[in-house]
Amino acid sequence: MKTVNQPAKPHYGQLLNQALSEPGKLSTAYSAMHKFSVLNRALAVQQMIERGIEVSPLGSYGAWRKQGINVLKGHKGIALWMPVTIKDKTKEAEDDETGKIIFVMKPHWFALSQTDGWNNGEANLSGFHPEWDAERALDVLGVELKKFHDVNANKMGYATIGDNTIAINPMNPHPFKTLVHEMAHQIMHIETEWRNQPPAVLEVEAESVAFIVCATLGLADDDALSSSRAYIQGWASSFPGWQEKVPVFHAKRIFNTANRIIKAGEDFTDES
Ligand SMILES: [Zn+2]
Repeated sequence: MKTVNQPAKPHYGQLLNQALSEPGKLSTAYSAMHKFSVLNRALAVQQMIERGIEVSPLGSYGAWRKQGINVLKGHKGIALWMPVTIKDKTKEAEDDETGKIIFVMKPHWFALSQTDGWNNGEANLSGFHPEWDAERALDVLGVELKKFHDVNANKMGYATIGDNTIAINPMNPHPFKTLVHEMAHQIMHIETEWRNQPPAVLEVEAESVAFIVCATLGLADDDALSSSRAYIQGWASSFPGWQEKVPVFHAKRIFNTANRIIKAGEDFTDES
């Protein structure tokens, strides 16, 4: 028999169905910045380390300006290989389109740590839910939040397997969503058997946890939740049947982890 004053349990199942069925739109933050080749990323990291610049997302001067971020005075650009088309002047003007492409090193790139948007590598996690504290949750779950040290500006966060650390891109427009996503990876996917699962399984699980936790606690706005749904549906569509319903085994793992994360951040200080 149900007691009357029992607080309403969050409808995790309903939220998961919503995540899979309601339309979503992926945040432009995932693709707003230039994508670099593996070689250029390695070159950028090397130059940042050599010059004592903190390894951080990379962008052109103009791309940073578009994000409302300014390169700090006196900073020199990072040089990467860039394609340049050489036109053959001996040919007729009509043939000009087909030039020869060569690669040259151009110092047109800047690390986020060379701008006023670096914020010491920390994502803005202020303004959280009054009854859920991100720091307490991290503490209880044994997960450490570190500075973001990845040159890919389109990457919103990452979890490092082996040392229980996570990092959030300081430019991330939805830092809480990513915080919970990376926490979920650390809780659910640290064992080898999980690390060898297809990325779609890991991403649907982690992002579903993020969606449920953020929707339950009000940690994310409509834009963030919409982006979350698009992300989940994008990965779920690569598995037959997962678009309509996540298998019960995985749904249970998602609900349990969401519950653990919510509980870990709750304030128990005034309870005796
Ligand atoms: Zn992930």
